Amino acid sequence: MTKFSALAQKYGTPLYVYNFDTITQKFSALKEVFKARKSLICFAVKANSNLSVLHHMAHLGAGCDCVSIGEVKRALFAGIPKYKIIFSGVGKRDDEIEEALRNDILMLNLESEEEMKRVEIIAEKLGVVARISIRVNPNIDPKTHPYISTGLHENKFGVDIESAKRMYIHAKNSLSLDPVGIHFHIGSQITEVNPFKEAAEVLANLLRNLKALKIDIKFFDVGGGIGIQYKEEETIALYEYAQSIFSALGGLDVTLVCEPGRYLVGDCGYFLTKVLYEKHNGFKRFVIVDGAMNDLIRPSLYQAYHAIEAEGKEGAEKSVCDVVGPVCESGDFFAKNIELPALEHDDLLVVKSAGAYGFTMSSNYNTRSRVAEVALQNGEDRLIRRRETFEDVIALEKACL
Ligand SMILES: *Cc1c(COP(=O)(O)O)cnc(C)c1O
Repeated sequence: MTKFSALAQKYGTPLYVYNFDTITQKFSALKEVFKARKSLICFAVKANSNLSVLHHMAHLGAGCDCVSIGEVKRALFAGIPKYKIIFSGVGKRDDEIEEALRNDILMLNLESEEEMKRVEIIAEKLGVVARISIRVNPNIDPKTHPYISTGLHENKFGVDIESAKRMYIHAKNSLSLDPVGIHFHIGSQITEVNPFKEAAEVLANLLRNLKALKIDIKFFDVGGGIGIQYKEEETIALYEYAQSIFSALGGLDVTLVCEPGRYLVGDCGYFLTKVLYEKHNGFKRFVIVDGAMNDLIRPSLYQAYHAIEAEGKEGAEKSVCDVVGPVCESGDFFAKNIELPALEHDDLLVVKSAGAYGFTMSSNYNTRSRVAEVALQNGEDRLIRRRETFEDVIALEKACL
């Protein structure tokens, strides 16, 4: 029996499995290319927010990039030091800003002048100085899927250079704001160095202009977005990536901050799902599995490709099929027109590169229980989130009977 078959038998399916040793390797490789400078790697919690994953990140020395107060609290709860936590996002509520300030995290990443004014008012009320960073939109095309492209003026994220400059000047003169960082995040699943290089150059120039105004920025945050290999796409050479940022920075003395999500956890994850049955509609072959779009929505949402392998069927003859789930939507599929061997009830399929934006984007659609998550580390497996029961799913509702 293969390792995955044994895990499927022990924990049931559908199931997420994350190899923590892979996370360690990816983290170390990134830290290594940054070693010529002070750097802080802040894992983007939204990619995989399981507490054990975050605890592992804390153990590696990572910080966290959060996009809600819930994520900030998760990071703190999992043992990430407060001085390594960044709070980003275009729409922060007053109560979220207040709680972030009370928790004294590293910095709030601001995305508009309006937001800066709210932060200033709340900091003043609390009698604290808010450390802030500004997300600058460098208007650069990251050449990725439009849903995960964020660095163009047509996207809702960040502010343009001129507004950023005004904001920094305002912040410097404010008693309640301390501008400590500058930030860009141009998109996700980026597979070329050039967009990063261009964005880093635009922001490094702004940083030099700010320096001339006696605004001293300490953190240069290059966001996330490093792509991984789902299919045959080229990926970024990390060394080249780091060097292009270093060369943009030149002699500027700043701490480099990087916010990878997918890069750190994407490849570590496997989604295990069992075949319920095969079905043929005329010439079309469907493999119907027990996992569905509510468990892993990336294929439906972004037409994302995930490699799928049938366990224990090496060498068997293959034919074309669609792999679909039981949810009542035509968009409920994991793959279309891929080649798989003939499959029977209970055969196991392994959906690869599922560690990022998998479980975190899952839902209870069709009153399906969210699946269990398992960690693999040093050859051992352990449950890090139990499967939801029907009672869990309805626990917060009232039937008014
Ligand atoms: C989503 C996000 C990230 C992580 O993106 P990846 O493509 O997963 O690396 C980093 N920073 C910010 C601000 C984000 O919104």
